[in-house]
Amino acid sequence: MHKIKVEDKEFEIFLENDTLNKRIRLLGIQINVDYEGKCPLFIGVLNGSFLFMADLIKEIDVPCEVAFMRVASYEGTSSSGKVKELIGLPENIEGRDIIIIEDIVDTGLTLSHIIKTLKEQKPASIKASALLLKPSALKHEIEELEYVGFEIPNEFVVGYGLDYNGLGRNLTDIYRATEG
Ligand code: 5GP
Repeated sequence: MHKIKVEDKEFEIFLENDTLNKRIRLLGIQINVDYEGKCPLFIGVLNGSFLFMADLIKEIDVPCEVAFMRVASYEGTSSSGKVKELIGLPENIEGRDIIIIEDIVDTGLTLSHIIKTLKEQKPASIKASALLLKPSALKHEIEELEYVGFEIPNEFVVGYGLDYNGLGRNLTDIYRATEG
């Protein structure tokens, strides 16, 4: 088993880049079909979504726009349960078809807060895509979460944009924390 260390913590290989890319290609096809004749605005939630956004957007062949925003809501290896300020929310989204791009949905608190806030600007539609979803950690049902890459167990993961204490975002594969 391929193991690595990020700072003080040991991780083992979980989802290889090739597996991620194959799934992302399928998500792209699904979005192309669903948004035919439209011009969606993809809004990435930084920092974790930057690689997922980069790979997903390359699969999109309908006209589209890309923007990013930021939420500071997570520290260490478990969700803090507090959503802090939303920074850099795009303006003028009234009447637009919005697709929010998240790295991972854990409790769902962050994503549901973003959706609620964006809805105040009256977009035509709003959907979300998350590369990873931890169904057993989900506390807020999110009906807008239409495009999920992988459902994973409630374990801490790192790599492909996801960090552990700021490190590990550059890893091309996704790793999960080993026990202990
Ligand atoms: P939620 O609000 O859904 O509980 O948390 C979502 C945010 O928590 C994600 O955008 C991500 O930043 C962070 N997060 C949740 N689980 C993990 C994980 O396993 N690894 C990493 N690196 N971040 C996580």
